[in-house]
Amino acid sequence: METFRQNLELIIRSRTPLIWIKTNEEERLQSILKATCERLNITKLVSWDCVNGIRGVLNEENKFKNNPIGILNWIKEQKANQSTLLLLKDFHRFYEDPTIGRTLKELSVYLRETSHNLIFNSHVYPTSNEFDDLMTIIELPLPDQNELINLLENIAKKTNSDLKRNDLIDLAIASSGLSEARVRQVAAKALTQRGKISSSDIKEIIEEKKQVIARSEILEFFESQSSQNDIGGLKILKDWLNQRYQAFSSEAREYGLPLPKGVLLVGPQGTGKSLIAKSIAKSWCMPLLRLDVGRLFSGLVGSSEARTREAITKTEAMSPCILWIDEIDKGFGGDARSDGGTSQRVLASLLTWMAEKESAVFVIATANAIDKLPPELLRKGRFDEIFFLNLPNANERSKILNLHIKKRRPNYDFPLETIVDRTQDYSGAELEQAVIEAMHFAFSERREISERDLIKAVSELIPLSRTAKEQIDQLKGWASTGRARFAS
Ligand code: ATP
Repeated sequence: METFRQNLELIIRSRTPLIWIKTNEEERLQSILKATCERLNITKLVSWDCVNGIRGVLNEENKFKNNPIGILNWIKEQKANQSTLLLLKDFHRFYEDPTIGRTLKELSVYLRETSHNLIFNSHVYPTSNEFDDLMTIIELPLPDQNELINLLENIAKKTNSDLKRNDLIDLAIASSGLSEARVRQVAAKALTQRGKISSSDIKEIIEEKKQVIARSEILEFFESQSSQNDIGGLKILKDWLNQRYQAFSSEAREYGLPLPKGVLLVGPQGTGKSLIAKSIAKSWCMPLLRLDVGRLFSGLVGSSEARTREAITKTEAMSPCILWIDEIDKGFGGDARSDGGTSQRVLASLLTWMAEKESAVFVIATANAIDKLPPELLRKGRFDEIFFLNLPNANERSKILNLHIKKRRPNYDFPLETIVDRTQDYSGAELEQAVIEAMHFAFSERREISERDLIKAVSELIPLSRTAKEQIDQLKGWASTGRARFAS
C-alpha cells in the first residue's frame, strides 16, 4: 500500500495530467486522495459523477450533472497555479464519445502547463489504447495487513469489543483479499448478531472470501474432502509435498529457504493428479483455488490478459493458498498464429508472476500431454519440480483397490492378488470404476461384493492404456529421459 501511495504522489508531482486508477473501492480511494492532497499541498480535491455532478466546490455544488463535457471544461477554467485534483467517477462510460475523446487529448496538453490533475476512477481498465501515451494507469491494491489491523482496531474500539492483539492479527490475516467495505460488512453482521467483533468471526470472513471468489468467472473456490490417506501409492510425491509444506513456516524463512513455488504434475488421465491437488489443500489447511484455463481464453467480457491479471491479484490476496491450474496443456497448447499470440502473452505473464512471486501461493499445474506444453513452462526453475504420475504398479494397484473397496464396503473380505494381476496398466480412476461396477453386480442380487464380481468388472473394462497406448508410451519415454521425477 505504501508503494501505491508513493507511486501516486510521484505521478502527481511529475505532472502527469491524466491518471486512471482501477478499483472498486471508491470511498477508500477518496480518503487516500484526501491524505495525498494534504501531503502535497493540493488545495482543492473535487469529485464528479454523472448523478451528483460536481462536489467539493463552494457555490458550484451539483453542477454538471449528466454533463461530462461541462466538467472537463470546468477544470480548464481553474486558475493554473491553484492546484486542483479532479476525480471523475465511472468515466469509462463516456470515454468512447468522440467529443470527449478530443477534449481529453487537448486537456492533456493544456493541463501539463498547470498544476491540475484529472483522475479517472473505474472498476475496469480503459477499453481502448487511444490514450496510452497520455495517461498513467495504476491499480489500487486491496488493503494490506497494516490497513486491515487499523480498520479492525478502529471498529473494535468504537464497539467496545475487547479484542486481544493476537486475535486482531488473526482477523486481519483472515481478511486479506477483502475490500474495506467487505470487512466492514462482516463486522456489521457480527455486531448485530453478537454486539462485538471477536476471533470467532474468522469463519464468517472465510465465507465472505468464498463469495468473492464465487463472483470471479475464472477462479473457483474448491471445497476439498480428500486427504493424503485417500491416495494409494505416489509415495515419492507425497513425501516431497510433505517436505515442501514445512518450507512455508517462518522458521524456514529464518533458515534462509525461499517460499515453495509449485509443482507440475504430468501423467495419463485418472492417475490421481487432481486428487493430489485436493488432498494437499486439506492437509495443508489452505484454500484451494481452481483456475479455469478454458475460461481465461473464452469470449467473456474483457481481454484474456486482463482476466489473468485479475486472477493473479485475487489469488495473491487469498494467500496462503493453493492455485490449481487444471489441464494446463489444454489452455497453452494452442498455436500462437491461431489466437493472435494471446495464449503466449497470458502464459508469459503467468510465468513472470511465478518467477517473481513472493507470496505464499503454491501452484499445482496438471497436464495429460507434454507434446503440446510450451517448452518455457518445462524449463527448470519455473516449478520447484515436475513429477510424472505413471499408471500404478502392482503394489499401488493393491492399495488403490483396497482404499476404494474399504471406503464403500468396510467389511469386505477377499484377496486382491488376482485382480491386481489382471489390471496391469489400469489407472487409479479405472480401478475405482471397476470397484463400483462390481458393487452394482453384487447389489442387484442384494449380497456382499466378492472377488468374482471384481474379476468380471475388470475383464469388461477396456483401459485407456489400450486405446491410447501410443500417447502413454510417449509420456513414459519423455519422463524416462530425466525431465521429470517419477512420483512413485
Ligand atoms: P485427469 O488427467 O483426467 O484430470 P487425474 O490424473 O487428475 O485425471 P483424478 O481426477 O485425480 O485423475 O482421478 C480420478 C479418480 O480416480 C479420483 O477421484 C480417485 O477416486 C481415483 N484415483 C486416481 N488415482 C488414485 C490413487 N492413486 N489413489 C486413489 N484413488 C485414485
